[in-house]
Amino acid sequence: MEAEIGIIGGSGFYSLAGNLAEVEMDTPFGKPSSQIGIGNIGGKKVAFISRHGKKHTIPPHKVPYKANIEALRQLGVKRIISSSAIGSLRKEYRPGEIVLFDQFVNMTHGRDDTFFHESPVTHVSSADPYCGELREFAAETAGRIDAKLHKTGTVVVVNGPRFSSRAESRFFKAQGFDVISMTQYPEVMLARERGICYAGIGTITDYDAGLEGSEDIEPVTAKEVSANFAKTVGMVKKMIVEMIPMVRTERMCRCGNALDGAVMG
Ligand SMILES: [Zn+2]
Repeated sequence: MEAEIGIIGGSGFYSLAGNLAEVEMDTPFGKPSSQIGIGNIGGKKVAFISRHGKKHTIPPHKVPYKANIEALRQLGVKRIISSSAIGSLRKEYRPGEIVLFDQFVNMTHGRDDTFFHESPVTHVSSADPYCGELREFAAETAGRIDAKLHKTGTVVVVNGPRFSSRAESRFFKAQGFDVISMTQYPEVMLARERGICYAGIGTITDYDAGLEGSEDIEPVTAKEVSANFAKTVGMVKKMIVEMIPMVRTERMCRCGNALDGAVMG
């Protein structure tokens, strides 16, 4: 069994296509979130993981991020396309729109966020954590299917599972962050540590704890996230399925060289 492209589906996104064979996997870091769906889409071999489990039973802080990335690596995956539900911190980033992340700010805690706990001491650069080449493919595809897209965005990642307080939300906005997630970290960095390209496609479901000066916008609820994601998940699936054949096998980016110069000594 092997695959070239890994897909990680977030909230509301529990399957990719009907023709994938479900495979049980195990890694030195435990089992991945779900069985892995392996098959062919648009002439590419893909492997699909449902981040929260097929029945949405795994909360963001308990997702086996290392097992998920390791399982994809074991299959030979070189590029990952991920989908997640996100909150907006800015008026211009509206519910129903798509954001391609280019930067993250980690505010999570207590998560096992590296493969490098042992010697040799390894410091991987996270200056540009998302693959620019994959982001281009995603942007092109979004244009073709007429999805409303923000080609860049800084995502602040909080631990969850609770949503932000109003003061936290105000603080994040004041820092200039665009959107908020509970799952982008450490997922993106674990992929980077393994030299795997990673594209993060976020779908905006809400305005976090509301917007200053817009008292009519209520703070987000889980019910709202589910309802809004259900509306847009078809669009994101379509975007990913259309994007897969465009992804070149030969990589022009530098994601595969993430460990060059990262080892001390
Ligand atoms: Zn790359």
